[in-house]
Amino acid sequence: MDNQGRLVRVVSDDGLFRAMAVDSSSVVAEVCRRQQTDLTATVALGRLLTAGALLGCLLKGTQRLALMVEGNGPLGRLAVETDATGRLRGSVRNPRADLPPRDGRFDVSGAIGRAGFLHVTKDLGLKEPYRSMVQLQTSEIGDDLAYYLSTSEQVPSSVAVGVELAKDGSVAAAGGFIVQALPPGNVDAIAQLEVRLGELPPTTTMLRDGLSPAEIMSAIFAPRRFAVQAETSVEFFCPCTRMQIERVLIGLGRQELQSQLEEQEEIQVTCEYCKEVYPFTKSELEALIRSL
Ligand code: ZN
Repeated sequence: MDNQGRLVRVVSDDGLFRAMAVDSSSVVAEVCRRQQTDLTATVALGRLLTAGALLGCLLKGTQRLALMVEGNGPLGRLAVETDATGRLRGSVRNPRADLPPRDGRFDVSGAIGRAGFLHVTKDLGLKEPYRSMVQLQTSEIGDDLAYYLSTSEQVPSSVAVGVELAKDGSVAAAGGFIVQALPPGNVDAIAQLEVRLGELPPTTTMLRDGLSPAEIMSAIFAPRRFAVQAETSVEFFCPCTRMQIERVLIGLGRQELQSQLEEQEEIQVTCEYCKEVYPFTKSELEALIRSL
């Protein structure tokens, strides 16, 4: 498996549709390895990572995007962050929900919980980040993202995000696409495309059959022609630094740090995304406290 996944963004020549497709297999595998997810959590977090990759390709420069799903199920909070260069990280609060399959499928909606919210935060370099949230519709992630795009962003969208696991539980394929109707919107063309989307095999099947994201676009749009606007890569990357972790510790305040010091010789702080461990010795902590 490649270290990098591929992503393509296109616009149809008739100007009716914009779309993106991604092979996120390698990112999903890497994030889930770090998060030590069980099977259901791998599928759930993998779908959210795929969604993040697809939306992230619309960012520019130093803009950032965060997706967060918070439901009342055993997984707790799932979070994904990405930037304009296709770098992604993700986390899940309880990676081992150990939920049994339902009707032969991984019970993603049960693991996330049927009640909850999808939060979208975009740091577009403005004074305040853009924040929006919608109620979870099915808790399968694809439907919830489509609902967010169609209501909050008012862009009618079809979303497919999928993760397929091998018999040994590893990620066999992960990927998906978003197709958006551009204004003013052609009702007949949208209905026609929806029929086509319903006939397509799952994205993960097309990826395992060797189709590239650009070839998946052809499968969706043919005979309609389209222009490729961007072809980029997606990969795992966590921008955490020791300095950030120090700031978190400082944020705990003098009293809390001092009581931690009395209890232990060294404290270890783990990044919730990449799981890198940052150790702080007694003297380093004392220096932090002095700096307060
Ligand atoms: Zn990290």
